[in-house]
Amino acid sequence: CGIVGYIGQPSSTREHGALDVLMEGLRRLEYRGYDSAGVAVVDGGELYHRKKAGKLANLAQELEEHPVPTGLVGIGHTRWATHGGPTDVNAHPHVADEGRLAMIHNGIIENYAELREELLAKGAEFLSETDTEVAAHLLADVYRNAGGQDLTRSLQLASQRLEGAFTLLAVHVDHPDRVVASRRNSPLVVGLGEGENFLGSDVSGFIDFTREAIELEQDQVVTITAEGVEITDFAGSPAEGKRFTVDWDASA
Ligand code: GLU
Repeated sequence: CGIVGYIGQPSSTREHGALDVLMEGLRRLEYRGYDSAGVAVVDGGELYHRKKAGKLANLAQELEEHPVPTGLVGIGHTRWATHGGPTDVNAHPHVADEGRLAMIHNGIIENYAELREELLAKGAEFLSETDTEVAAHLLADVYRNAGGQDLTRSLQLASQRLEGAFTLLAVHVDHPDRVVASRRNSPLVVGLGEGENFLGSDVSGFIDFTREAIELEQDQVVTITAEGVEITDFAGSPAEGKRFTVDWDASA
């Protein structure tokens, strides 16, 4: 339902880390309605994730009881359940590649059942009833088959196989310098910072931090690093989104 992503760098003068940005973005996205929430942060070669059914306060409480590093890179999600009830396990992020990759998703993967069969046959282990977890394991499978090097390329290839509506964001311990994202029939906006960049299902996800934005177009993949933004189509050809400046008053 609501999506936020962040990457910064150690030299950033800001006092916030990834977790602060993600939680603030999720608070801003609460107006969309949701039944669960979760975050994932990559730090020091480890992936940490926490997720809870119910209000953001439940996630905040979970983070108090089981803290994670603030980190410089991460993703956050509020869920509106479509496949699988609103439980802790079905909440996003979903983790694959032996706990090394985390994914969040807005929308519905229509061909998830056949992909699930295919991935089960290859040994994938599913913990949830969601369509999203299928996309996470598909990305992990493509990534491993491609030699486990190019996360962006792997997301392009995985996206080609997904039908339906999706905004997907992923982080991987092998690539702590980036967040990769993809969209089809579901919105995704990049927020442009200085030495940091953002992703959101809408600008509310990062409006407290920047007003410079790029709206992605149909069937695009974007990679954000602290220093840059790279957009392609699902085939990997360079592409461009629509640049704009947010001008509404978001002080509320
Ligand atoms: N279909 C996914 C699920 O049920 C994502 C729902 C959403 O957009 O929040 O988990």
